Amino acid sequence: MSTFSTWLTPIVDRVLAGGDVTPDEALRMLQAEGPDTWDLFAGANRIRHTFQGADVHLCSIVNAKSGRCSEDCGFCSQSVRFPSDIPEYELVDDAEVTKHAEAARARGSQALGIVAAWRGLKKGAQLDSVLERIRTVAKVEGVHADASLGLIDDADIPAMLKDAGLHTYNHNLETSRRHFPEVCDTHGYDARITTLKLLKEAGLNTCSGGIFGMGEEPRDRVELAFELKALDVDVMPMNFLNPMEGTPMADRPLMRPMDALRTIAMFRFVNPTKEIMVAGGREVTLRELQPLMFAAGASATMAGHYLTSEGRSTEDDWTMIQDMEMDYLPPGAPRPPSGHHGPKASPVTKGVRFPVLDAAEL
Ligand code: SF4
Repeated sequence: MSTFSTWLTPIVDRVLAGGDVTPDEALRMLQAEGPDTWDLFAGANRIRHTFQGADVHLCSIVNAKSGRCSEDCGFCSQSVRFPSDIPEYELVDDAEVTKHAEAARARGSQALGIVAAWRGLKKGAQLDSVLERIRTVAKVEGVHADASLGLIDDADIPAMLKDAGLHTYNHNLETSRRHFPEVCDTHGYDARITTLKLLKEAGLNTCSGGIFGMGEEPRDRVELAFELKALDVDVMPMNFLNPMEGTPMADRPLMRPMDALRTIAMFRFVNPTKEIMVAGGREVTLRELQPLMFAAGASATMAGHYLTSEGRSTEDDWTMIQDMEMDYLPPGAPRPPSGHHGPKASPVTKGVRFPVLDAAEL
């Protein structure tokens, strides 16, 4: 009798040798049960360890412009179309982004993402202000300036962002092409794909993932994993719906923790060399199983608060990372931008410090 799932063994071997999984195999991973589930995690963990080592990368974000967004993404409490009591404000100033960048560095994050709630970027005063904020964060030693500023349809803009010092631009596809119209009416899937392609063409690192638990089917999760693979996205954030009051998705049930972990593992099999970052909703969805996100193949997570909801304390996250005997890349270390990093023989850093962070818990 085999001691490891017989259907999975050749897939793990193939991926470790540089091969690909098929969509049917990825779908089967989401349906794994009993001991197969744990074999799936073991395979994903082996793949992560082979291609990414045991380093956990941390990112932080600042909600730099909050609320009153024209779009109608059904999960989002920042849309002007849904009632919510979140704070609303225009783009914060340089002092505020500097404060957040320093806090991000203090909690061990390698990057600060400047996030704005609006449809996207257009040349003019809005873009000029954004470029200034990026230049400001880029000057903070040890922290990459990242941003998530919506749709881009002008090929000049990614180069301008890059010139300002931007390291990585986030723009999530959110879900599959098939399911996207159930999530958003005000813009289409192709606008999101175009944004990512323009960023890639300008030589910027791309960060794109999705939100799971929005009523999609397992095949949609597989489709998204392959869509991101085809776009050669560098960092893949995986968010789990934390239903927000006032939004059309307010009453959706939370995804089951093991389904979330199976989805993380499937993403690792499909995208073995990429950064897979578990982000929003991990606390409410994974609950006591949060440390298993690394065992299921994740290589990064978000530290600090999210856009409109609170994250865990940094101290708890660091305890989790250390208890899992994972390592981390210190702020300022080169963050793998993309592609195959190759097997790592030894960790970069092993339990070197534990941040003390009251002032930085913004
Ligand atoms: S997800 Fe972004 S684009 Fe969509 S409503 Fe929220 S802030 Fe606007």
